[in-house]
Parts: sequence; C-alpha cells; structure tokens
Amino acid sequence: MIIAVDGPAAAGKGTLARRLAARFGLNYLDTGLIYRAVGWAVLQSGGVPADPQAATAAARRLDPSLLDRPELRDEAAAAAASQVAAIPAVRAALLDFQRRFAAQPPGAVLDGRDIGTVVCPAAEVKLFVTASLEKRTERRLKELLDKGESAIRERVLEDMKARDERDSARSVAPLVPAEDAVLLDTSELDADAAFAAAVAIISQRRPAG
Ligand code: C5P
Repeated sequence: MIIAVDGPAAAGKGTLARRLAARFGLNYLDTGLIYRAVGWAVLQSGGVPADPQAATAAARRLDPSLLDRPELRDEAAAAAASQVAAIPAVRAALLDFQRRFAAQPPGAVLDGRDIGTVVCPAAEVKLFVTASLEKRTERRLKELLDKGESAIRERVLEDMKARDERDSARSVAPLVPAEDAVLLDTSELDADAAFAAAVAIISQRRPAG
C-alpha cells in the first residue's frame, strides 16, 4: 500500500504521515528533506539555490544518508528547498529515488507536495492536508520558539506566504491536490484528531486494512 500525503508547509503532514506509517506498518519518507538537502548543499558550496546548474548538480549527488542532519530543519534550508524545487531538472533527478523508496515492500507513506500527482499517481490513498495560513503560521512560530530560536510572527508569516506562492505557482509539479485526493483541513484539529480522521479515511478506502 502507498499513502500519499501532500499539502503546504506546517499543515501537520509530517506528524500525521509518520504516525500513519507506524499504524499501518509502512516505511516513511519525508520528501521535503530531499529538497532541503539539495538546497542546503548548494548553500554550503557557496552557490545560489535558484541557479539551475548548481542545484541540478547537487540533486544528482544527493546522499540520502545525510537526510537526518538537524540543519535541514532550519528556515534557511526550507527557503533554499523551495527554490531548487522549482527547477525541472532537480525534480527529475530526485524522482527515481522517491519511486524506488515507495516501491519497497511492504509499502510506504510519503509526504510532500507532488506525491499524489507526480511521484506516486497510483497511490491507494491520497490525502491533501491543509490548514489556514493563520494556523500554519502559529504552528511554525511555536515550533521555532520551542527549538529556542528567536522568531517574529510577521516574518514567519511572510516566509510561509512566499514559500506557498513559489510552490503553487511553479510550472513543474505545482502544489495542487490530486483529483482523487481526500482533503483534510487540520485548522481546527489537533494531531490526535487529524490522525483519527486520516485513519477513518484510509479504512473507508481499504475496508480490509
Ligand atoms: O515539506 P517541507 O516544508 O520540508 O518542504 C520544503 C520545500 O521542498 C517545499 O517548500 C517545496 O518547495 C519542496 N518540496 C517539493 N516537493 C516535495 C516536497 C518538498 O517541491 N515533494
């Protein structure tokens, strides 16, 4: 079974996808980390993430064993990620890795922006997880403050808006729900309620699971 979990930043996809993977005994891949790793590698080498040559070279050299680096969780890596992610050759270079991951038994939960539309269009279950910009900003702000980082609400809101716009407006694999995706709005749901709602959706689609 493959479960695709797509949606904008800070909608609760990561927490939800990880819990779903544990609940259904599936592998889990946070595909945002791959784009973050590429963006971060470009920054590390002194390059500019929007430069197609530098970004594509970094994507082809991607080392998946580096995906657990804490630096990838920073806002700088997030912003760089959404710039490299708009480059078609970068997306093409990363597609194979994601599809191979998804194809490994017993199946996987992948979260990202284009899992249901491009990476795994045949996924059994597709969730599009979203929440209002307000709520997503509050959640990201809390996450940053909990990590001990200084953060200003207006700045977090502006960064989030800029990233949403870049992700939704790009010509290749833009952030849109797949036609057969089920929308899950977590604006008024905590993590447990979002998990319960997702399990109900998946169980409906797969009565035997
Ligand atoms: O999910 P996360 O916020 O870590 O993703 C960082 C950035 O990577 C996103 O803003 C998006 O530009 C890009 N991304 C993507 N396609 C994916 C996953 C992430 O374009 N499947």
